Amino acid sequence: MLSRLLDWFYPRRCVGCGVFSREAFCALCRDVLPRVYPPACLRCGAPMGELPECRYCRGDIYRFDGTICVGLYQGPLRRAIINLKFRRWLRAVEALSALVIELMDRPENAPLCQVDGLIPVPIHRLRRAMRGFNQAEEIARLVSQQRGIPLLSHLLRRRFYRRPQVGLTGAQRWENVQGAFEVVSPEQVRGRRILLLDDVFTTGSTFDACADALKRAGAAEVMALAIAREIDSPQRR
Ligand SMILES: [Zn+2]
Ligand SMILES: [Zn+2]
Repeated sequence: MLSRLLDWFYPRRCVGCGVFSREAFCALCRDVLPRVYPPACLRCGAPMGELPECRYCRGDIYRFDGTICVGLYQGPLRRAIINLKFRRWLRAVEALSALVIELMDRPENAPLCQVDGLIPVPIHRLRRAMRGFNQAEEIARLVSQQRGIPLLSHLLRRRFYRRPQVGLTGAQRWENVQGAFEVVSPEQVRGRRILLLDDVFTTGSTFDACADALKRAGAAEVMALAIAREIDSPQRR
């Protein structure tokens, strides 16, 4: 009965393309999932291909220490994030957290994932009230449970209600999030290695502002994990 009710509210559709599917991603979407494989930029997680240096990031300017990404913000991965965020297709939480865990389990990512705590990028409490949930937090909660990494969401808070980053230029994005985050109990952050988790990495400005707050509070290291890397935005710098 309950599962039938859930099916009514959250139809068994593929989160990537909308066809009816037993799995959260149908076989076709799994096949074409735009994953990022090494070599990728250690700073921003973008794929490097044959290039000697990354074309997509600000390199040493970032205050976080490294980034890994599940895939590109394209195709079924992009649609899954949008379906979760704006249509509340909650089965995407499970599908996306499984992808995050797969990414963390890759041997080359082991050093980045040995952390003392996991913090989802916070949204402002007003936005959270409007949307009903923070998608990054829902995913982080499952990852934390399954990997045994403490979830430290309560330690980082968004100070201001700002307009969403969507539609802003690269420079405006940086401006918009400067000083936007604060650490609630610095003594619980001091000396710790933190893994930040967010759905999309566009310019890195949000991760950077979070890392700034955490480092000021004394965090030893701040890593970033994004589900999707957006690399085709025209004004990324
Ligand atoms: Zn599909
Ligand atoms: Zn890069």
